[in-house]
Amino acid sequence: MKIHKGDNVKIISGNDKGKSGKVLAVFPLRESVRIEGLNMKKKHVRPRTQGQKGELVRVPAALRVSRVMLVCGKCSTPTRIGYTVDGSGNKQRVCKKCGAGI
Ligand SMILES: [Zn+2]
Repeated sequence: MKIHKGDNVKIISGNDKGKSGKVLAVFPLRESVRIEGLNMKKKHVRPRTQGQKGELVRVPAALRVSRVMLVCGKCSTPTRIGYTVDGSGNKQRVCKKCGAGI
């Protein structure tokens, strides 16, 4: 997947459209990512020990990678991602807008 953990991404569709945040986790098999503080869903937590109360917590839910764009660290715009391969065969992600390595 082109999006990696720790990347700064922007959501381009849905309720959180236009907001950006850091990728907390990527799920390549599901083609989805979880982003810090975005796409929050309510989760009911049962009391685990006696005396503890059940509560409603808000946790970031995963969303499809097609709904996010990487924000380039150099030109700080949402961009598509390309790859370059150097002489020794190492792949490097590059920004399609400014050409800087990511
Ligand atoms: Zn760029």
